[in-house]
Amino acid sequence: MYVENVIEKVKLKYPDQKEFHQAVQEVFTSLALVIKKDKKYQESAILERLVIPDREIYFRVNWVNDVGKIQVNQGYRIEFNAAIGPYKGGLRFHPSVNAGIIKFLGFEQVFKNSLTTLHLGGGKGGSDFDPKNKSDGEVMRFCQAFMNELYRHIGPYTDIPAGDIGVGGREIGYLFGQYRKLTNRFEGALTGKRFDWGGSLMRPEATGYGCVYFAEEMLKERGETLAGKICTISGSGNVAIYTVEKLYHLGAKPVTVSDSKGMIYDEAGIDVALLKELKEIKRVSLEEYIKFRTNAKYIKVGDYKEDTNAVWSIPCFAAFPSATENELNGKDAKTLLQNGCKCVSEGANMPSTLEALDLFLRAKICYGPAKAANAGGVAVSGLEMSQNASMHPWDFETVDKKLHNIMENIFSISSQTAKEFAEPTNLVLGANIAGFRKVADAMIDQGV
Ligand code: NDP
Repeated sequence: MYVENVIEKVKLKYPDQKEFHQAVQEVFTSLALVIKKDKKYQESAILERLVIPDREIYFRVNWVNDVGKIQVNQGYRIEFNAAIGPYKGGLRFHPSVNAGIIKFLGFEQVFKNSLTTLHLGGGKGGSDFDPKNKSDGEVMRFCQAFMNELYRHIGPYTDIPAGDIGVGGREIGYLFGQYRKLTNRFEGALTGKRFDWGGSLMRPEATGYGCVYFAEEMLKERGETLAGKICTISGSGNVAIYTVEKLYHLGAKPVTVSDSKGMIYDEAGIDVALLKELKEIKRVSLEEYIKFRTNAKYIKVGDYKEDTNAVWSIPCFAAFPSATENELNGKDAKTLLQNGCKCVSEGANMPSTLEALDLFLRAKICYGPAKAANAGGVAVSGLEMSQNASMHPWDFETVDKKLHNIMENIFSISSQTAKEFAEPTNLVLGANIAGFRKVADAMIDQGV
């Protein structure tokens, strides 16, 4: 009853924050067993404390566009929980951003960061600013205006933002430049920086590579590998690109990618160099892909069955949702399972609806929930913080080895915890309980 009551209170208190309800429901439902087993969590009101962030910062961002017109956006930084380390989590710039989305992301981040075994608390931020179709000058002025407020809340031992949707190397550069000018300090207050001025090698690759390493671990336990297997990927941003790249390293064949306007099905295998050129450099629609790869198919959003995602209609052995939340619903999950999909490793945050998640768990396929499978990004951000603190950068192989090790450990702790609670294939339960225990115990140790 305790768990259900807290979930209900969250829904009543924040009626419009649907994504936040979904994240709380997903995590707390799987905590029921540990809450029942160990009374200290209820006695210390841990769940009530976990659903309210330490602090929510909302601010106005004024900037001037290329034709001299004043633009106004909403900025957010939600510092969720710092029981095991400074707040850490990305910034998202996308028109869909609102308080509910940032809260769901921040809440998930708390448990994800705990799973990495690094000392990182959870937070998230962003803005409803849309970097698409803006000049570099406009993006720079927006980032500077955003940092004019944010800088007073962050720092290497307080809160260390990073990238997310719409925030890549370019945006981190402008944000860091303004932080440095305002504070007169060159310090690791942001991660995702370019290597030449304080970044870590492997950070751009980390989330995608880590997500594939996680899939590899899940499959290894069942005596399977990705070699020679057809894989489908959604998204075509940072996470999707490096998922595709790592799948090739392991001998798999990635055949799809997508963006907000449509999807590509390239039966011969996605051309990674072309994908990087279109999405990292030119920043254009994926529709351009078929001009260069004439045998590939392009399906526009809206041209496929309503209420389903065309990416998940392509038969595959393993699926890697890497675009955004709720991009894979119950219908998509049924199609994937009917077509023989044996593994889903989530690169995006909360890409599967609760119905889809339930279907994957019942089918007992290898299902890697986001907070475990995509933790490679924040893990390498943590490694970037270590390199900043010691002023000593590591080479690519060293960071890759550490990332691989962290992903193996996340799988191992999630799987062991699932077994402890007699649900050996349920990594949702395993990851949620393992992530929760460390944070909750730290909160109890540190008093009210
Ligand atoms: P990018 O901005 O680099 O790419 C996002 C991709 O998803 C683009 O292809 C974009 O299409 C597509 N997309 C975004 N929003 C929507 C939408 N509402 N509907 C359909 N497609 C959409 O972001 P990332 O690759 O960094 O992030 C992808 C996911 O991974 C997010 O859920 C993020 O939270 C998660 N994540 C990212 C991490 C990182 O290190 N970057 C770490 C952990 C999780 P278009 O190009 O048309 O906009």
